[in-house]
This record gives sequence, structure tokens and C-alpha cells, in this order.
Amino acid sequence: MNQVLLPDQPVKCPPMRPGLLNRTLMDETSLATDTCLPTGIDGVSQLAELAIDLRSTWKHDGDTIWRGLDEELWEATNNPWVVLQTISRCRLSDKLADPDFRGRLDALTEARREYLGEKTWFQKEHADSVLTCAAYFSMEFMLSEALPIYSGGLGNVAGDQLKAASDLGVPVVGVGLLYQQGYFRQSIAADGTQLEYYPFNDPAQLPIAPLRDEDGEWVRIKLAMPDGPLWLRAWQVQAGRVRLVLLDSNDGANLPAHRGITSELYGGGPEMRLKQEIVLGIGGWRLLTAMGIQPDVCHLNEGHAAFAVLERACEYMARTGQSFESAMAITRAGNIFTTHTAVPAGFDRFAPSMIEHFLGRFAVEELGIPVQKLLAMGQDPGDPTGDFNMASLAIQGSGAVNGVSRLHGEVSRHLFASKFPRWPINEIPVGHVTNGVHMPSWDSSEADALWTEACGKDRWRDPSGALSHQMRSISDERLWQFRTSSTHSMIEYARTRLSRELAGSGASSESVEATRHLFDPNVLTLGFARRFATYKRPNLLLHDRQRLLDMLNNPERPVQLVIAGKAHPADLVGQTLIRNWIDFIRDSGGRTHVIFLSDYDMKLAQRLVQGVDVWINTPRRPWEASGTSGMKVLVNGGLNLSELDGWWAEAYQPEFGWAIGDGAEHGDDPAWDAAEANELYEVLENEVIPLFYERDERGIPTGWLAKMRNSMSSLTPQYSAIRSVRQYTQEFYLPAAQRYHERAAMDGQRGAEIVHWRDSLRQKWDSLVIGETQVATDEQGHHFSVDVFLDGVDPRAVQVQMYAASDSSQESGCHAMTIDKSCSPGISTYTYRVIVSTMRPASDYTARIVPVHPGVAIPLELNLVRWQQ
Ligand SMILES: *Cc1c(COP(=O)(O)O)cnc(C)c1O
Repeated sequence: MNQVLLPDQPVKCPPMRPGLLNRTLMDETSLATDTCLPTGIDGVSQLAELAIDLRSTWKHDGDTIWRGLDEELWEATNNPWVVLQTISRCRLSDKLADPDFRGRLDALTEARREYLGEKTWFQKEHADSVLTCAAYFSMEFMLSEALPIYSGGLGNVAGDQLKAASDLGVPVVGVGLLYQQGYFRQSIAADGTQLEYYPFNDPAQLPIAPLRDEDGEWVRIKLAMPDGPLWLRAWQVQAGRVRLVLLDSNDGANLPAHRGITSELYGGGPEMRLKQEIVLGIGGWRLLTAMGIQPDVCHLNEGHAAFAVLERACEYMARTGQSFESAMAITRAGNIFTTHTAVPAGFDRFAPSMIEHFLGRFAVEELGIPVQKLLAMGQDPGDPTGDFNMASLAIQGSGAVNGVSRLHGEVSRHLFASKFPRWPINEIPVGHVTNGVHMPSWDSSEADALWTEACGKDRWRDPSGALSHQMRSISDERLWQFRTSSTHSMIEYARTRLSRELAGSGASSESVEATRHLFDPNVLTLGFARRFATYKRPNLLLHDRQRLLDMLNNPERPVQLVIAGKAHPADLVGQTLIRNWIDFIRDSGGRTHVIFLSDYDMKLAQRLVQGVDVWINTPRRPWEASGTSGMKVLVNGGLNLSELDGWWAEAYQPEFGWAIGDGAEHGDDPAWDAAEANELYEVLENEVIPLFYERDERGIPTGWLAKMRNSMSSLTPQYSAIRSVRQYTQEFYLPAAQRYHERAAMDGQRGAEIVHWRDSLRQKWDSLVIGETQVATDEQGHHFSVDVFLDGVDPRAVQVQMYAASDSSQESGCHAMTIDKSCSPGISTYTYRVIVSTMRPASDYTARIVPVHPGVAIPLELNLVRWQQ
């Protein structure tokens, strides 16, 4: 297996295994071994320590340092690590000898050390908890544009959660892949064609460091693939207090076919995807083991990493000698699956033959189970293809499942209902934690200043979000000045960026020159930027071109619009939608009121959300599981106009912004699209534009500002990753860690018990019989009684309940019944009784039998239910 010695004792994270991870990423030794930075200049390791820590992406006070070293390179890359790698020894010595520069550097170093040393929310609130480490697995992480290992929303959630975990001190370690090329980079040809580039990410230029063991040897993990061993190199990334470890297959010892496995994100076919998911799930868990980390909690951010649950069980078997069944029963209590998909087509599925080919040996030799059994863990009873579904594996291997908004939780309960046959929809075991974004990563410096004025420095970490209400005391003048200057900064950025893009695509010097004067900071600015996927309907605004044009060109109340977004290289329809916009811009007389900025990435997203007045989002409900870009405008005073889908379906109130849609689903009906396009124009024409241009004697739109204040103060704390990570910690990580440790205690005896309980119930379930319900009603309530034949099953292994389904006016009701004491033991037929209030008629109730076992999640871990016929 892997080549690193396992330590004798599991080590908590953080701090992790001394020597391996406990030292700072950039001490003198790493400087000498892992970088070409000059050694022997006092202060270089300080700079390196700051440059490698992605905390710089949310603490912008270091920017002046990097700008001071190489302004042009800094502006182009926003990558302190590249700046530091590039600068000459001579200039570095000069700079470090400059007392002013040195003073700022010392202050930053001090501030960072203070941050790392301060007592965090987790230490204060959960000092004694059993949670020592949650491993967070994700196919992508969006932490910085300098580390391009992300594509979009999923990576955004992952990156922002790591950053919030750092702020809160939640012991999380991220696990992901280091892509040599990552997701494609985009430019747009003059005719609107999307051009795709895959520049190579030189690891030396990325803010990452090789992960070395205590002897200084680079940690490598070995996986057995059908065509030979696959070596994976390990890297580490620092984001404040949190580490992210990354695996990459570009190891010299690998077969050529293996070296490119971690080349592209979401590239290649199903086989490539399967290999990547094996590397992430199995390789990722092995890496943690090699590092001496035994996480209590394994958090699967989407089903891609679901193989981790198998490797976790495998490692547990090796350590304790338990069977696969027991090991799964024990470890799954500590696994959490977050699903991000709102349509069945969104789940990764693999042909059974492919699973057999790549994982057959793993099943038999490592897990000790036939491959059929492994396949069954990912197959859906209702799916005739027999395909292996990663979400099914994740559900089978987890102790809790959640969606990413209230609506998405509901949608997911329907998507997964077939796995829990005969269970009422509201009992399908999928909860929700609505996503949040890491506000300090998305706020502008103007917004940071404004919030600091109103609410103080540490506002995001305030648990209640109460501080945000102080935002309401900001004066109209100050708020309006903030808004216009934010738009102004964004426009400056857009002009520079567009002129660079146009020059790059060979445009005439006149049109390059013209970009310098584009847009007006006093005009209402709309933003629309996201992946160009059909369900997001990025051309809904183009439904009636003339109407849009009239709106944009209205001389009294003009509007300007910024568009950005990539379409997946294989998504030709999405690429056509981009072309439609480029055509519109050209046909409508150029870029006076609409521009398309190419290569939508984290940096561009930041600049847009910081400067637009209104952020538009038009997905087909309910396909946008959550959506996060709209949350990023909150802190910056932007307002949302969105379909009632994802997070907006629960956040929207008229005082916060605008909504389209009727809160129902209409599939991809073109007539409905047309109706919604019409509604979108109407909201813009009749509500948004008039409100923006309705000014008082000071020239200030007070109605607009009122909405801004409401949205900023009420929604910002609610849709912050600080809230979501606290919620994950309290509602998921802590109980999961607790349950895992309970099951693992006493040499895993609980695991064997659970397996025995489950197997015996499965065997007997069909022979259980529920007799007729007797009911008598008096002033105490309905007295229900029912005879139940348990066929030798221990009555403690089940619960008999009277159940009433929810209807339009009432919640469902479920009342546990107890065995009448007069029953003689041993006869296997018991009389169960319960008294229920007469709020509902007795005829609403049906008797049922469900499994029970202490600490076991029903129906997630055992989906049996027996209803009275
Ligand atoms: C926030 C973000 C996303 C996600 O945006 P949605 O509107 O939720 O799809 C995608 N890409 C980038 C670059 C982002 O910053």
C-alpha cells in the first residue's frame, strides 16, 4: 500500500503529526528544499510564510507588500507566491532593508500569528467535544484565482467552507486533487466563438508545497490499478488554520496513461472521471492515514468522493480486524454526504463492468467482499441499467445526508425516495444546510471599510449576526457614496480588462481605445455571470431583443449590463448562448450598454459582485440547488433579482430585492420561459429602474437605499459561510463524531450488534403481521390498540406507531405505542396501545412497524417499514 510508515498513535488535526505537518509550511528547511527562493536573506522566510498562506485572499492588508515588490506581476496574477518566486535576489534584499517595507512586513507577520493563536469559536464553544478532525472531500476547491483547481459553484462552497472553518477554528482538513491544467480558460473570438485554453499550472508557481514526512521524503501514495501501480504525489495548501491536501498523478514513476489522470477538471470521459474519483476517495483517505490522521468525520462534498467511505472502512478493518459489514456499520456513522444536484442526470454513474474492472480487486482483496456486493452499494433498485451511482454509494455509506437549500432538501427527498420504498416523503432522510459564502473573501475594500465603520472589525464571527443591524444606522449620504464608488471601481476594472481582451483578440486600436470610456458609474448597472448551462437560461434577457434594447437605451433612465460566463467545452448549446450575446452586442451598435467579459473566474466574480447594483439569476426552478453568486453581492450592497429557486426561494422578501417565477416547477416548457422573460422585463421596467432613478432633493434614491440596508443587514449574516459552517459543525459534525465514537468503543462491539440486528430484521420482516386496529374515543383521546405478531423478533428491535400523514392543513403525526403489560412473554404476539389527542379523527391514523436501534438513523441505515394492510 502506501509507502509511509503509519504512526503508532492517531494524532489530532490540528495539530497534526509533529514533523510532518506541525511546522509552518515555509520554514527555513522547506525554503531550502522546496523553493528556489534565496536563503540567507533575513526576512525572506517571513515573506514566504505570508505568500503561501491563502489567508491573503481574505485579508487584503498584505496587498501593498506584493504590489511593492512587482506591481505589474501582482496586478496580473494576484499571486504573492509568483511575485516572490520571480523577484531578483538583489531587489528582495533592497526591499527588506527598507525600514518602512520591513515595518509593514513585521506588522503583517504579527497579525497573522495573532490570528493563528487566538481563541476561536470552536475552542470556546466545543472545547470538550469528541470532534478532533473532519475531513472535507471535494473534487474542486475555489480558494484563490492563483490556485486554479475549481470550475464553479461546487468549488466555491468548498473553498469558502474551509476559510470559514479557519475563522471559526473548526478542525477541518480538506482533501482534493491538484490538476495540472484544471478547468479550461476562455477567450471569445470576434465572431462569438468560445476558445478554450489549458495552460499548464507549474506547481512551483502555485501557492502549494510538497507534503514531506519527518525524514524529508515526499509523501507518495500507491494505488493498485488494473494496468499497474498508480503513484500519487501529495501537496499541501494552507488557508489560515486549515490545511488542504491535494493528490496528483503526475509522478515520474507512473505509466504515461496514469500521469494525466489529474490533468483536467471535468475533462475526459467516464473512465477518466472514475479514475479521478478513485484517486480522490481511496487515495485521499489513504493519504490521511499516511499522515497519521484519523478523522472522526468524513464530509463528502457531492458524491464524487464517495469511494472514501470504502477506504475508511478498509482502514478500520486493517486496524481492528473487524469484518467489512461491521466496519461499515461503525464508520458510516461518521460520514456525511452533501448532495448538490437537483436532477437525476446530475449524478455520476458508471457502467458496472467499469467498476468491476477498476475496483474488483479492491473489493475482493482489500474489503474481503465479492464485487457484486460492492456493485449493489451503488445500484438503484429502480434503475434497469444497473449503473453504479455515486450518490447511492454515498447514501449507503453515510450517517447523514443533506441538500444545500431548503427547496433543494425537498427536491432531494423526492430524488432519493425510491431508495426508501413506502416511507412518507417527509421522512426520506435528507435534511438541508443552505450554503453560505465567506464574506471577507468577496467584500470590496470599500465594503470592508463601511462594515467596519458600522459594526466593527470582527463582525462576521459574531454568532448571532446581531451586529449587522447596526448597518441600518449608516446615513443615506454615506451609503450612496459607497454604492457609486463601488460601481466606479468595477467599471474601471471592466474597462481595463476589456481593453486587454480586445487587444489580445486583434481588435482595432479604435475599439480598444473606446473601452476606456465605456459605461457610466451613475447608470444602473446589472450583472449576469455564471456557467452558461441551459438550465440557467443565460439568454432569458434576450428573449425580446428590442425590448431589452429599449430598456438599455432609454435616454432618461439608461441601464448597463455586464455579462460573463463559460460554457463547458462539450456543451455546444451553452456555447451558442454565448454567441447569442456577442451577436446582440454587435448588432445593437457595440458595447455602449452591454459588455461580455471573458474567462469568468474568481477574480472576475469578485470584481463584478462588488460593483453591480443588481445581480440577475434566471435558472429553471428547481435546478439551481442553491446558487452562491447572488450571496456574494449581499455584503457589497448589491440587490438580487432572481428566479424563486435555490437560496433565493427561502431568502426572498419584497423588502430585500425582486423575484420572478410563481414558486412552482414548469420543466423546460418554452411557453413558460416566455412568460418568465416577460415577467423579468416587467420587473425591470416597472420596479427596478424606477426605484433606482427616483431621487430626493439631494439626488439620492432613498427607496433603493432602504432595500440595500435591509438586504445587507438581514441577509448578509444569514448567507455567510460562518453560519453554514457553524450549522454543519453543530448539526452534523458533532453528532456524527459522537455516534462514530460510540460505535467504535468496546472494540467495535456495537458494529457487530448493529449488523446482527439489521440482518435478523431483514430476515424476519416479511413475516411480521399487524392485526386490526381497535379504537375507542373518550375525553382522554383516541385509545388505539393493535395486536402485532413479531415472529420471535425482540420487541426492542422495532417500534410500533400510529401514524397520520400530513395534509394541506396539518403536519404528519407519529405516536409510538407501548406493549400492554398483560402480554405474556414468549408468545410473539403483543398488544400495543397508545392514547392520541382527538385533534385529528381516528380514521387518519394507520399502524406501522419501523426498526429501532439506539443511535441508528432510520430509515437511512435500514429502510424497512411495515404498514397495516
Ligand atoms: C460564485 C461563483 C460561481 C457560482 O455561481 P452560481 O451563480 O451560484 O452558479 C461560479 N463561478 C465563479 C467563478 C464564482 O465565483
